[in-house]
Amino acid sequence: MNKQSNFPLSSITTLGIGGPASQLITITSENELQDILSQLPTTNYQLPLIIGGGSNLLVSDDGYPGTIIKNEIKGIQRNGNNLVVNSGTTLQDLVDFSIKEGLSGLQKLTGIPGTLGGAIYGNAGAYGQTISDHLTKVKTLNPKTPQTNEISLEECKFKYRDSSFKQNKLIILEATFELTPADPGQLQKEADETLEKRLVKYPKGIKCPGSFFKNLVADNLPKKILEKIPEEKIMYGKIPAGALLEEVGAKGDSQGDIEIANYHANLFINKGEGKAKDFYDLAKKYWQKVRDKYGISLEPEVQLINLPPLDQ
Ligand SMILES: Cc1cc2nc3c(=O)[nH]c(=O)nc-3n(C[C@H](O)[C@H](O)[C@H](O)COP(=O)(O)OP(=O)(O)OC[C@H]3O[C@@H](n4cnc5c(N)ncnc54)[C@H](O)[C@@H]3O)c2cc1C
Repeated sequence: MNKQSNFPLSSITTLGIGGPASQLITITSENELQDILSQLPTTNYQLPLIIGGGSNLLVSDDGYPGTIIKNEIKGIQRNGNNLVVNSGTTLQDLVDFSIKEGLSGLQKLTGIPGTLGGAIYGNAGAYGQTISDHLTKVKTLNPKTPQTNEISLEECKFKYRDSSFKQNKLIILEATFELTPADPGQLQKEADETLEKRLVKYPKGIKCPGSFFKNLVADNLPKKILEKIPEEKIMYGKIPAGALLEEVGAKGDSQGDIEIANYHANLFINKGEGKAKDFYDLAKKYWQKVRDKYGISLEPEVQLINLPPLDQ
């Protein structure tokens, strides 16, 4: 276990933004996590925030006034066609392992940064695959008790970029996947083709937190709002947030060192010494414009840390 005080969060987020956390504790085993939680005061305390790869976070320039636990509990075990995986394993290590072992179901998640824990929390996905597709159960730890439990797939309540973990705040410790045997060469080919497509949107070294806003599920929108959206913008039942942001002029706009990509209106990039304030102001500006034009309140996919919700 490694404890550091006044730790600059900009150094562990893919966006390269974020002031200091009062304390950052890096853990590599479940025992270390149990130790930390058992030492928490019994009343009047703020639970520590658990993070993985910091690839889906916008952290305030003021940082985080509390303890952050960085999860590096790694490890993958194969049982037949099942993989049992610790949540601090990087998603890329899991994808690579599944390909090498000739197990299909995760190969299109190649290139998504971060850990398995973060991917389950936000039900990460790309190119028609999501992390929940072949998941059978999740082992969790309740930070308040601190007791472990096995959660079924139903209890995870996975939806598009959503899971029950966003509400219940259980710590994800481990997950089990049931995959299908396949030719490793074919799986690698699919992964390579996927990665090639990804590099167009996310060139190497880009400082960003992935797409900022969630796309919209057409079926969830009231008819009155859906009528305002040109039909060609609806793809596979979803309306890309980027399409609406583009309509209100977001592409290429900037504030300070934060720029909205000129090729993708839902991609906010830190060009150098970007600040959370500039990112937030720019996101809010276009959130408001989309709301004014379409009556839709876009929802951030990225987790805002120590920042107010956009609708406040
Ligand atoms: C270049 C780039 C491309 C991306 N492409 C995609 C994409 O194609 N598809 C996609 O879905 N996402 C994408 N993302 C977003 C991001 O990579 C994913 O959301 C990723 O799964 C986040 O994992 P993480 O470990 O970095 O989570 P973090 O950013 O560290 O945390 C995100 C949230 O998960 C919670 N969390 C993390 N670990 C745990 C745990 N063990 N238990 C409970 N809660 C936990 C945190 O508290 C936080 O609220 C991209 C990001 C970047 C930078």
